[in-house]
Amino acid sequence: MTPFSRGLHELANQCYVYLQPDGSWGWSNAGLVRGDGASLLVDTLFDLKLTAAMLDAMAPVRAAAPISTVVNTHANGDHCFGNQLVKGAEIVASAATAGEMGEYSPAMLAGLSAAPGEVGEMFRGFFGAFDFAGIELTLPTRTFDGRLDLDIGGRTVTLIEVGPAHTRGDTLVHVPDARTVYTGDILFIGGTPVVWAGPLSNWIAACDLILGMDVETVVPGHGPVTDKRGVAAVRDYLAYIDAEATARFHAGMSPWDAARDIALGEFAGLGERGRIAVNVEAVYRTLDPAHRSPGIVELFQRMAALERLGA
Ligand SMILES: [Zn+2]
Repeated sequence: MTPFSRGLHELANQCYVYLQPDGSWGWSNAGLVRGDGASLLVDTLFDLKLTAAMLDAMAPVRAAAPISTVVNTHANGDHCFGNQLVKGAEIVASAATAGEMGEYSPAMLAGLSAAPGEVGEMFRGFFGAFDFAGIELTLPTRTFDGRLDLDIGGRTVTLIEVGPAHTRGDTLVHVPDARTVYTGDILFIGGTPVVWAGPLSNWIAACDLILGMDVETVVPGHGPVTDKRGVAAVRDYLAYIDAEATARFHAGMSPWDAARDIALGEFAGLGERGRIAVNVEAVYRTLDPAHRSPGIVELFQRMAALERLGA
């Protein structure tokens, strides 16, 4: 099994992963698929310094097989803010992801972290380890809907859009000849999934799709490399939250009360358990399309409050 240590690790058949423990807020993973004379990079990282360090670690592979293509699995900054450092590559994402990418800009995150008082202090608590200076949002140069086969130096890599789920446009990157799939944030291993978009049923369907694939190696967006057991665990969490939140919706409970009321049981040991506050909101929006969730500052306040409570 691949150790969960920072840096580049070779998986099967010229597929690599760049891991960033501890996998919590902003500490995302990236992937590299090497073909004959060309490589595909799965995601960049949250800031320029981290992305540059990753590209340095990939230098021996890139020397023989330069990165010709970047895939952004989704629009969150910890998967695309380093795009500007991969000059000359084609950047591919689903059309939904490309459309969402501008909404949480580096300037916005920098602004929240620099806010006065408790709000700034809270965001620095979540994102203070990252440096958002100098980032120029670099958007995809090619978009797709549904499915896209890429030829990377003679290897077929298949992109499969499974969003909206974690975000509006999540993409899986499947490398059939290595029996490997890079899932982006469809999988958080060791941490709690966060459902920014939903519906949860789409995300559960994405887990089922992976469970049905001929794959052995499963690379999550956050946390250690896993296999289908990791996929099943994420599916179990989402199905549990969906059922528990739905029951409380029908009982007339507010989403914030529901988030505080649901017992996490076997999932209590996951990191970032406060994300249940965001996940319950997604369930309520699905059940009542007129339901309006609070803004980003309040959602982070709720998550911080929940994690303080049980600490
Ligand atoms: Zn992420």
